[in-house]
Amino acid sequence: MKIAFIAPHLKFISEYKPIDDLVSEEINNGLLKLPEFNLPLLTLAALTPKSFEISIFDEEYKPIDFEGDFDIVAISSPTFTIFRAYEIAKKFRERGVYTVIGGNHPTLLPAEAAPHVDTVFVGEVEETWPQFLKDFQKREAKKIYYGTQPDLSLSPIPRWDLMSEFFTPEAIKMFRTTHRWEIKLNATRGCPRDCEFCSSTRIYGPKYRKKSIPQVTQEIRAAKKWSKHFGIDQCFFMFCDDNLLLDVQYGSKLLDALKEEKISWGAFTDIGIHKHPELIQKLYSSGCRVLNLGFESVSQASLQSIAPWKSKQVMHYEEFMEMALGEGFLINLGFILGTDNDTEETIQLIDDFLTRYPILPNFLFLTPFPNQALTNRLKKEGRLPKKLYWDRCNAYNILFEPKQMSKEELHRQFIYLYKKYRSPEHRQTINDELLSRKQWSVDQVHLRFDLGTKMKLYTPFLKELELSQLK
Ligand code: SF4
Repeated sequence: MKIAFIAPHLKFISEYKPIDDLVSEEINNGLLKLPEFNLPLLTLAALTPKSFEISIFDEEYKPIDFEGDFDIVAISSPTFTIFRAYEIAKKFRERGVYTVIGGNHPTLLPAEAAPHVDTVFVGEVEETWPQFLKDFQKREAKKIYYGTQPDLSLSPIPRWDLMSEFFTPEAIKMFRTTHRWEIKLNATRGCPRDCEFCSSTRIYGPKYRKKSIPQVTQEIRAAKKWSKHFGIDQCFFMFCDDNLLLDVQYGSKLLDALKEEKISWGAFTDIGIHKHPELIQKLYSSGCRVLNLGFESVSQASLQSIAPWKSKQVMHYEEFMEMALGEGFLINLGFILGTDNDTEETIQLIDDFLTRYPILPNFLFLTPFPNQALTNRLKKEGRLPKKLYWDRCNAYNILFEPKQMSKEELHRQFIYLYKKYRSPEHRQTINDELLSRKQWSVDQVHLRFDLGTKMKLYTPFLKELELSQLK
């Protein structure tokens, strides 16, 4: 049997042209995005018995073969690309190909997805995907499969041997700008914080589940083995977990293990780590080069409705910055603009905070993703767009008017902060400041890359990938 795994792609960024220009430019310069191997698709492939023939189409890099001879087409889609996903399903269904869909959006809105495909997967698929394949072969596939929140020991090592499916001219063009590939990993799922704007708790549940440390290191070793096999000497490992260091004991053991693996890696976590200086001190030596934290705001009032737990942590932000800044990894703080308590003054507070620290912030608009607590609240208040807006759900569009600012003012503030804190000049300032704090070694190429400065000085040792080497 033949299966095509598909990740739809959509280029659209923002209906606000200045934002579109700024963000697109960063993507094109390789500052916001690296070529990567789609983790959900490679995990699905690993859950598929070897007797099935697999093709992978990540539309960002490779056009879909709509005429291909497939028994099943499986699409994984977040909200932003869901209209494209439905379009793809339609084309295959017209040819009588069996189509299935899973991912964040169908998990949050299965009833919407159902008419577009033959089968919908809700939630995690470690148990349901193998069951579906058995049912499909017996011609007994169901319309909907509801995933549980499985023990992560059931999650297989992704099929890194299929990396070559991503070595397309488009990905290689990107690689020539970025000089490294990103290998995404996932060690934990779930988050108990339940922020109003985040789907993590809703999709993965409040219980924090973890892969065993040996399971994570096996995944890393397999990825290293296959990337070497395909001639890639430099990879950056990015944990796509929503909150990698939430369990400090686990986090500490993980850092010890990562140190042994001698890799450069990045992750997302939250301000909870401010209580654990010993963990922060271990990060750099374990290979951590980028740590992303969602601060969202520095105003307690702005955070109150969207992230009650975080609103009680604001007083620790400076303490954390002082502790972590000298450690040598890049701190990437995420800020969300457009809460109902945001005003020009609360945004000024973010500006004041950022002038004090050499960090690289990112700015996003508060976005009502489907079926979230935030979205349900706005819906009750009649404040959501009338038409379905999923293709604008990428955090670079203003989808509702906050109570104390006009959309125009919010847009203006966003541009102001973005231009000020993501400019090449600001990146250079951070670079110089961080260099003065720590004696960095040549492997800082990763950190320097993220800052977008002086990178070319460090690239000659990177092995160039030639198209002819690739399958
Ligand atoms: S924003 Fe972060 S802390 Fe809040 S629920 Fe999502 S993952 Fe958890």
